[in-house]
Amino acid sequence: MEENRKLQDGFGRTIDYLRISVTDRCNLRCTYCMPEEGVGFIPHEEILRYEEIIRLSEIFVGMGIRKIRVTGGEPLVRKNILFLTKELSALPLDELVITTNGVLLEQYAEGLKKSGIRRVNVSLDSMNEKTFRSVTRRDRLADVMRGIEAARQAGLGLKINVVAMRGINDAEVTDFVRFALEKKTGLRFIEVMPQYYDEEIVRKRFLGSEEILAKIAAEYEVVPKDDVSEGSVERLYSIGDGGFRFGVISAISDPFCKNCNRVRMMANGVVKTCLFGPEGPNLKRMLLRGAERGEIERVIQRVVMEKPKKHTLDTNAGNLIMNRVGG
Ligand code: SAM
Ligand code: SF4
Repeated sequence: MEENRKLQDGFGRTIDYLRISVTDRCNLRCTYCMPEEGVGFIPHEEILRYEEIIRLSEIFVGMGIRKIRVTGGEPLVRKNILFLTKELSALPLDELVITTNGVLLEQYAEGLKKSGIRRVNVSLDSMNEKTFRSVTRRDRLADVMRGIEAARQAGLGLKINVVAMRGINDAEVTDFVRFALEKKTGLRFIEVMPQYYDEEIVRKRFLGSEEILAKIAAEYEVVPKDDVSEGSVERLYSIGDGGFRFGVISAISDPFCKNCNRVRMMANGVVKTCLFGPEGPNLKRMLLRGAERGEIERVIQRVVMEKPKKHTLDTNAGNLIMNRVGG
């Protein structure tokens, strides 16, 4: 039966989490993600149409995917995004979630909840207006904060994702812990990674998980948790023995590849099985030439079998165009 199918890679890892980038466009220009000018956006005609995303998602789900994350670029800038989230929520998934920069969340929070989304990750690197502007090159902090509030009001589960950067937001690490405790949101710190537009960012801005934890431990009692859920690429900690937990993704200092359960589909239908790996087959092109489900499944199966054992970001950062892949 389809529901029992399992997608496994060549190292025996179960792949049950699909991240779909629905657009490479964005209303911010985060310095660690893309430059202000000169971004080579995917031509409109090459972007997956919603019907194509839904068709391909059905195929992935039939093969064993249990969780889908909608990401981008900025997913909320894509027209009629609630149509897509509603259609995806009809699939037999354990979880349908979205990652957004929060700029448009105030107007979308209710609709996302109604369309079947239960949890939203909001990327927010600074709660200081000046710093926010310098990181994102846009003046939209107030919109994001209103978006977070609207998501809470709508009853969406919330997690704040913070890319930690030396000399930028390192002084705000504990502010984020306080904010998350107060607002009862989840919280996750992410080590900055090199990417196509700026392979040097790590040398300039890297703030490792040990240092992030030390900053938090200076103000709070930090307790490591070893009950990391299957497929998780983060390490979890709690503050004291209370219910509040936060995570740290140390892609650089302590990669969690052995637990990775992810496959990614970019906005043009190209599959990627590792952030820093090569681009795989283009499923949109397969649909356009009328490929049958069985053929598409075989292609997905093959690329998943070839998923690398470990990422090679030290040599392959140039492969990663964040706004196309979706983080
Ligand atoms: N626009 C949405 C957002 O920012 O949440 C979704 C797409 S964005 C590419 C997904 C995630 O990737 C965000 O949390 C962002 O902070 C993270 N990201 C982008 N570039 C990064 C980098 N160089 N290192 C670490 N994380 C990065
Ligand atoms: Fe846009 Fe997200 Fe990239 Fe920032 S990280 S520029 S919000 S896609």
